[in-house]
Amino acid sequence: MKVRGTTKVVGLLGWPVEHSMSPAMHNAAFREAGLNYTYVPFPVQPEHLAKAVDAIRALNLAGANVTIPHKVAVMQYLDEIDEDAQKIGAVNTIVNVQGRLVGYNTDGQGFIRSLAEQGIGVKAAKVVLLGAGGAARAVVEALLSAGAASVTIAARSGDKANHLAGHYSSPAVTGIDWQSDVLTRRLAECDLLINATPLGMAPAVEKIPPVNWPALASQTIVCDLIYNPLMTRFLQQAKERGHQVVTGEGMLAGQGALAFQIWTKTAAPYDVMAGNLLQQLKEQQENC
Ligand code: NAP
Repeated sequence: MKVRGTTKVVGLLGWPVEHSMSPAMHNAAFREAGLNYTYVPFPVQPEHLAKAVDAIRALNLAGANVTIPHKVAVMQYLDEIDEDAQKIGAVNTIVNVQGRLVGYNTDGQGFIRSLAEQGIGVKAAKVVLLGAGGAARAVVEALLSAGAASVTIAARSGDKANHLAGHYSSPAVTGIDWQSDVLTRRLAECDLLINATPLGMAPAVEKIPPVNWPALASQTIVCDLIYNPLMTRFLQQAKERGHQVVTGEGMLAGQGALAFQIWTKTAAPYDVMAGNLLQQLKEQQENC
Protein backbone atom coordinates (compact mmCIF):
# COMPACT_ATOMS: atom_id res chain seq x y z
CA MET A 1 0.00 0.00 0.00
CA LYS A 2 1.47 3.35 -1.04
CA VAL A 3 1.77 6.16 1.51
CA ARG A 4 -0.64 8.92 0.42
CA GLY A 5 -2.26 11.99 1.94
CA THR A 6 -5.01 9.75 3.30
CA THR A 7 -2.68 7.22 4.95
CA LYS A 8 -3.21 6.88 8.69
CA VAL A 9 -0.01 6.80 10.71
CA VAL A 10 0.58 4.82 13.92
CA GLY A 11 3.79 5.51 15.84
CA LEU A 12 5.97 3.58 18.26
CA LEU A 13 7.36 5.69 21.13
CA GLY A 14 10.35 4.09 22.82
CA TRP A 15 14.05 4.50 23.58
CA PRO A 16 15.67 2.75 21.85
CA VAL A 17 13.37 1.44 19.09
CA GLU A 18 15.92 0.29 16.49
CA HIS A 19 15.50 -3.41 17.29
CA SER A 20 11.72 -3.42 17.64
CA MET A 21 9.89 -6.08 15.64
CA SER A 22 6.58 -4.22 15.85
CA PRO A 23 6.95 -2.04 12.71
CA ALA A 24 7.37 -5.02 10.36
CA MET A 25 4.68 -7.00 12.21
CA HIS A 26 2.09 -4.22 12.08
CA ASN A 27 2.86 -3.18 8.51
CA ALA A 28 2.42 -6.82 7.43
CA ALA A 29 -0.93 -6.87 9.28
CA PHE A 30 -2.13 -3.60 7.68
CA ARG A 31 -1.19 -4.99 4.22
CA GLU A 32 -2.98 -8.26 4.90
CA ALA A 33 -6.13 -6.43 6.06
CA GLY A 34 -5.96 -4.04 3.06
CA LEU A 35 -5.92 -1.02 5.40
CA ASN A 36 -4.31 2.27 4.41
CA TYR A 37 -2.24 2.55 7.58
CA THR A 38 1.49 2.69 8.20
CA TYR A 39 3.46 2.06 11.42
CA VAL A 40 6.57 4.14 12.12
CA PRO A 41 9.10 3.81 14.99
CA PHE A 42 10.06 7.05 16.77
CA PRO A 43 13.09 7.07 19.08
CA VAL A 44 11.92 9.32 21.95
CA GLN A 45 14.35 10.24 24.70
CA PRO A 46 12.70 10.35 28.16
CA GLU A 47 13.02 14.15 28.41
CA HIS A 48 11.07 14.54 25.15
CA LEU A 49 8.16 12.28 26.03
CA ALA A 50 5.63 15.07 26.76
CA LYS A 51 6.39 16.73 23.41
CA ALA A 52 6.20 13.38 21.60
CA VAL A 53 2.73 12.71 23.05
CA ASP A 54 1.63 16.19 22.03
CA ALA A 55 2.93 15.43 18.54
CA ILE A 56 0.40 12.56 18.28
CA ARG A 57 -2.28 15.26 18.46
CA ALA A 58 -0.40 17.85 16.38
CA LEU A 59 0.43 15.42 13.56
CA ASN A 60 -2.96 13.71 13.82
CA LEU A 61 -1.50 10.22 14.19
CA ALA A 62 -4.15 7.48 14.47
CA GLY A 63 -2.43 6.23 17.61
CA ALA A 64 0.77 4.76 18.97
CA ASN A 65 2.39 1.94 20.83
CA VAL A 66 4.47 2.81 23.86
CA THR A 67 7.44 0.72 24.91
CA ILE A 68 10.39 0.77 27.33
CA PRO A 69 11.06 3.10 29.13
CA HIS A 70 7.85 5.15 28.69
CA LYS A 71 4.98 2.81 29.64
CA VAL A 72 4.40 4.35 33.08
CA ALA A 73 5.55 7.94 32.47
CA VAL A 74 3.28 8.35 29.43
CA MET A 75 0.12 8.02 31.55
CA GLN A 76 0.32 11.57 32.94
CA TYR A 77 0.09 13.06 29.42
CA LEU A 78 -3.04 11.21 28.25
CA ASP A 79 -6.66 12.44 28.37
CA GLU A 80 -8.16 9.14 29.46
CA ILE A 81 -6.90 5.77 30.64
CA ASP A 82 -8.80 2.54 30.25
CA GLU A 83 -9.65 0.69 33.48
CA ASP A 84 -7.35 -2.28 32.82
CA ALA A 85 -4.40 0.01 32.09
CA GLN A 86 -5.13 1.93 35.29
CA LYS A 87 -5.10 -1.29 37.30
CA ILE A 88 -1.87 -2.41 35.63
CA GLY A 89 -0.34 1.04 36.07
CA ALA A 90 1.12 1.18 32.58
CA VAL A 91 0.05 1.97 29.00
CA ASN A 92 1.34 0.29 25.84
CA THR A 93 -1.28 1.50 23.33
CA ILE A 94 -2.72 4.95 22.61
CA VAL A 95 -5.62 5.73 20.30
CA ASN A 96 -6.31 9.24 19.05
CA VAL A 97 -10.06 9.88 19.19
CA GLN A 98 -10.46 13.28 17.51
CA GLY A 99 -7.62 14.79 19.49
CA ARG A 100 -8.37 12.96 22.77
CA LEU A 101 -5.68 10.44 23.58
CA VAL A 102 -6.91 7.28 25.29
CA GLY A 103 -4.43 4.81 26.81
CA TYR A 104 -4.78 1.02 26.99
CA ASN A 105 -2.62 -1.88 28.08
CA THR A 106 -2.88 -4.93 25.81
CA ASP A 107 0.11 -6.89 27.19
CA GLY A 108 -1.73 -9.20 29.61
CA GLN A 109 -4.74 -9.75 27.34
CA GLY A 110 -2.25 -10.42 24.53
CA PHE A 111 -0.85 -13.28 26.58
CA ILE A 112 -4.34 -14.72 27.13
CA ARG A 113 -5.02 -14.34 23.40
CA SER A 114 -1.82 -16.24 22.55
CA LEU A 115 -2.94 -19.11 24.80
CA ALA A 116 -6.43 -19.09 23.27
CA GLU A 117 -4.88 -19.30 19.78
CA GLN A 118 -3.40 -22.63 20.92
CA GLY A 119 -6.65 -23.83 22.43
CA ILE A 120 -5.51 -23.20 26.03
CA GLY A 121 -8.10 -21.67 28.37
CA VAL A 122 -7.33 -20.20 31.78
CA LYS A 123 -10.78 -20.30 33.36
CA ALA A 124 -10.47 -22.02 36.76
CA ALA A 125 -6.75 -22.62 36.15
CA LYS A 126 -4.22 -22.69 38.97
CA VAL A 127 -1.21 -20.64 37.91
CA VAL A 128 2.34 -20.22 39.19
CA LEU A 129 4.04 -17.12 37.81
CA LEU A 130 7.78 -16.54 38.24
CA GLY A 131 8.77 -12.85 38.52
CA ALA A 132 7.06 -9.78 39.94
CA GLY A 133 7.88 -7.02 37.44
CA GLY A 134 5.85 -5.07 34.86
CA ALA A 135 5.01 -8.03 32.60
CA ALA A 136 3.95 -10.12 35.62
CA ARG A 137 1.62 -7.33 36.74
CA ALA A 138 -0.14 -7.17 33.37
CA VAL A 139 -0.38 -10.97 33.08
CA VAL A 140 -1.82 -11.45 36.61
CA GLU A 141 -4.49 -8.82 35.91
CA ALA A 142 -5.47 -10.60 32.68
CA LEU A 143 -5.44 -14.05 34.30
CA LEU A 144 -7.85 -12.82 36.99
CA SER A 145 -10.15 -11.19 34.40
CA ALA A 146 -10.14 -14.46 32.45
CA GLY A 147 -11.27 -16.40 35.53
CA ALA A 148 -8.09 -18.10 36.79
CA ALA A 149 -8.77 -19.85 40.12
CA SER A 150 -5.48 -18.88 41.74
CA VAL A 151 -2.20 -17.16 40.92
CA THR A 152 0.95 -17.70 42.98
CA ILE A 153 3.55 -15.03 42.27
CA ALA A 154 6.99 -16.42 43.09
CA ALA A 155 10.04 -14.18 42.89
CA ARG A 156 13.60 -13.95 44.18
CA SER A 157 12.33 -11.25 46.50
CA GLY A 158 9.42 -12.51 48.60
CA ASP A 159 8.71 -8.89 49.57
CA LYS A 160 8.27 -7.82 45.95
CA ALA A 161 6.10 -10.86 45.21
CA ASN A 162 3.97 -10.07 48.27
CA HIS A 163 3.74 -6.42 47.36
CA LEU A 164 2.49 -7.26 43.85
CA ALA A 165 0.02 -9.83 45.21
CA GLY A 166 -1.33 -7.24 47.68
CA HIS A 167 -2.14 -4.95 44.78
CA TYR A 168 -5.02 -7.23 43.66
CA SER A 169 -6.77 -7.47 47.05
CA SER A 170 -7.95 -10.94 46.05
CA PRO A 171 -7.46 -14.10 48.12
CA ALA A 172 -6.82 -15.88 44.81
CA VAL A 173 -3.42 -14.14 44.49
CA THR A 174 -0.50 -14.87 46.81
CA GLY A 175 3.13 -13.80 46.74
CA ILE A 176 6.02 -15.99 47.90
CA ASP A 177 9.79 -16.17 47.91
CA TRP A 178 10.72 -18.72 45.23
CA GLN A 179 13.09 -20.44 47.69
CA SER A 180 10.18 -21.31 49.98
CA ASP A 181 8.70 -24.80 50.34
CA VAL A 182 5.31 -23.36 49.46
CA LEU A 183 6.47 -23.16 45.82
CA THR A 184 7.01 -26.93 45.72
CA ARG A 185 3.43 -27.48 46.90
CA ARG A 186 2.00 -25.00 44.40
CA LEU A 187 3.97 -26.59 41.53
CA ALA A 188 2.43 -29.94 42.35
CA GLU A 189 -1.08 -28.66 41.70
CA CYS A 190 -0.67 -26.01 39.01
CA ASP A 191 -2.10 -26.05 35.48
CA LEU A 192 0.11 -23.28 34.11
CA LEU A 193 3.69 -22.31 34.98
CA ILE A 194 4.86 -19.00 33.50
CA ASN A 195 8.32 -17.44 33.42
CA ALA A 196 7.97 -13.65 33.61
CA THR A 197 11.62 -12.98 34.50
CA PRO A 198 14.35 -12.16 31.96
CA LEU A 199 16.31 -15.29 33.01
CA GLY A 200 17.31 -17.08 29.79
CA MET A 201 16.90 -14.09 27.49
CA ALA A 202 19.68 -13.53 24.92
CA PRO A 203 22.58 -13.07 25.34
CA ALA A 204 22.46 -14.86 28.76
CA VAL A 205 20.67 -17.87 27.27
CA GLU A 206 22.20 -20.31 29.78
CA LYS A 207 20.21 -18.79 32.69
CA ILE A 208 17.05 -20.41 34.01
CA PRO A 209 14.69 -19.64 36.88
CA PRO A 210 14.87 -22.19 39.71
CA VAL A 211 12.22 -24.86 39.16
CA ASN A 212 12.09 -28.16 40.96
CA TRP A 213 10.92 -30.09 37.87
CA PRO A 214 10.10 -33.37 39.63
CA ALA A 215 7.64 -31.42 41.85
CA LEU A 216 5.71 -30.09 38.84
CA ALA A 217 2.41 -31.80 37.97
CA SER A 218 2.85 -33.81 34.75
CA GLN A 219 -0.02 -32.08 32.90
CA THR A 220 1.23 -28.54 33.60
CA ILE A 221 1.61 -26.30 30.54
CA VAL A 222 4.85 -24.30 30.72
CA CYS A 223 5.07 -20.79 29.20
CA ASP A 224 7.92 -18.34 28.78
CA LEU A 225 7.31 -14.64 28.03
CA ILE A 226 10.81 -14.42 26.56
CA TYR A 227 10.86 -14.66 22.74
CA ASN A 228 14.58 -14.27 22.11
CA PRO A 229 15.47 -17.10 21.98
CA LEU A 230 12.14 -18.74 21.22
CA MET A 231 13.10 -22.00 22.90
CA THR A 232 14.66 -20.91 26.20
CA ARG A 233 16.52 -23.35 28.40
CA PHE A 234 13.50 -23.22 30.73
CA LEU A 235 11.19 -24.39 27.92
CA GLN A 236 13.73 -26.94 26.65
CA GLN A 237 13.85 -28.59 30.07
CA ALA A 238 10.05 -28.54 30.35
CA LYS A 239 9.73 -30.11 26.89
CA GLU A 240 12.26 -32.82 27.71
CA ARG A 241 10.08 -33.71 30.70
CA GLY A 242 7.03 -34.06 28.45
CA HIS A 243 5.26 -30.74 29.19
CA GLN A 244 3.41 -28.77 26.53
CA VAL A 245 5.30 -25.48 26.10
CA VAL A 246 4.27 -22.00 24.92
CA THR A 247 6.88 -19.61 23.47
CA GLY A 248 6.86 -15.84 24.00
CA GLU A 249 6.30 -14.51 20.48
CA GLY A 250 2.57 -15.31 20.80
CA MET A 251 2.19 -12.70 23.56
CA LEU A 252 3.92 -10.10 21.37
CA ALA A 253 1.59 -10.97 18.48
CA GLY A 254 -1.40 -11.03 20.84
CA GLN A 255 -0.74 -7.59 22.34
CA GLY A 256 -0.15 -6.27 18.81
CA ALA A 257 -3.37 -7.81 17.53
CA LEU A 258 -5.39 -6.13 20.30
CA ALA A 259 -3.70 -2.77 19.64
CA PHE A 260 -4.45 -3.19 15.90
CA GLN A 261 -8.13 -3.71 16.77
CA ILE A 262 -8.18 -0.61 18.98
CA TRP A 263 -6.71 1.61 16.22
CA THR A 264 -8.58 0.21 13.23
CA LYS A 265 -11.78 -1.28 14.74
CA THR A 266 -11.05 -4.26 12.47
CA ALA A 267 -10.24 -7.86 13.47
CA ALA A 268 -6.48 -8.38 13.37
CA PRO A 269 -4.81 -11.09 11.25
CA TYR A 270 -3.18 -12.78 14.28
CA ASP A 271 -1.63 -15.61 12.24
CA VAL A 272 0.07 -13.16 9.87
CA MET A 273 1.43 -11.19 12.83
CA ALA A 274 2.73 -14.27 14.67
CA GLY A 275 4.19 -15.64 11.40
CA ASN A 276 5.92 -12.34 10.69
CA LEU A 277 7.50 -12.36 14.17
CA LEU A 278 8.71 -15.94 13.74
CA GLN A 279 10.30 -14.97 10.43
CA GLN A 280 12.01 -11.93 11.97
CA LEU A 281 13.30 -14.02 14.88
CA LYS A 282 14.62 -16.67 12.48
CA GLU A 283 16.43 -14.04 10.41
CA GLN A 284 17.86 -12.49 13.57
CA GLN A 285 19.19 -15.87 14.69
CA GLU A 286 20.73 -16.55 11.26
CA ASN A 287 22.52 -13.18 11.40
CA CYS A 288 24.02 -13.89 14.84
P1 NAP B 1 10.92 -6.23 34.90
O1 NAP B 1 9.82 -5.27 35.16
O2 NAP B 1 12.33 -5.76 34.94
O3 NAP B 1 10.72 -7.48 35.94
C1 NAP B 1 11.56 -8.57 35.88
C2 NAP B 1 11.25 -9.54 37.02
O4 NAP B 1 12.25 -10.56 36.96
C3 NAP B 1 11.39 -8.93 38.43
O5 NAP B 1 10.60 -9.69 39.31
C4 NAP B 1 12.86 -9.15 38.74
O6 NAP B 1 13.16 -9.20 40.11
C5 NAP B 1 13.08 -10.52 38.13
N1 NAP B 1 14.49 -10.68 37.78
C6 NAP B 1 15.24 -9.91 36.97
N2 NAP B 1 16.49 -10.38 36.90
C7 NAP B 1 16.53 -11.48 37.70
C8 NAP B 1 17.56 -12.40 38.07
N3 NAP B 1 18.80 -12.29 37.60
N4 NAP B 1 17.24 -13.39 38.93
C9 NAP B 1 16.00 -13.51 39.44
N5 NAP B 1 14.97 -12.66 39.12
C10 NAP B 1 15.25 -11.67 38.27
O7 NAP B 1 10.76 -6.91 33.47
P2 NAP B 1 9.37 -7.18 32.71
O8 NAP B 1 9.04 -6.02 31.86
O9 NAP B 1 8.40 -7.68 33.69
O10 NAP B 1 9.81 -8.35 31.69
C11 NAP B 1 10.06 -9.67 32.15
C12 NAP B 1 10.30 -10.58 30.96
O11 NAP B 1 9.13 -10.67 30.16
C13 NAP B 1 11.42 -10.10 30.03
O12 NAP B 1 12.17 -11.22 29.63
C14 NAP B 1 10.70 -9.54 28.84
O13 NAP B 1 11.45 -9.68 27.65
C15 NAP B 1 9.46 -10.43 28.80
N6 NAP B 1 8.33 -9.75 28.15
C16 NAP B 1 7.80 -10.34 27.05
C17 NAP B 1 6.73 -9.77 26.41
C18 NAP B 1 6.15 -10.43 25.19
O14 NAP B 1 5.40 -9.77 24.47
N7 NAP B 1 6.43 -11.70 24.94
C19 NAP B 1 6.17 -8.58 26.91
C20 NAP B 1 6.73 -8.00 28.07
C21 NAP B 1 7.83 -8.61 28.68
P3 NAP B 1 13.70 -7.93 40.91
O15 NAP B 1 12.52 -6.99 41.01
O16 NAP B 1 14.15 -8.49 42.20
O17 NAP B 1 14.82 -7.33 40.10
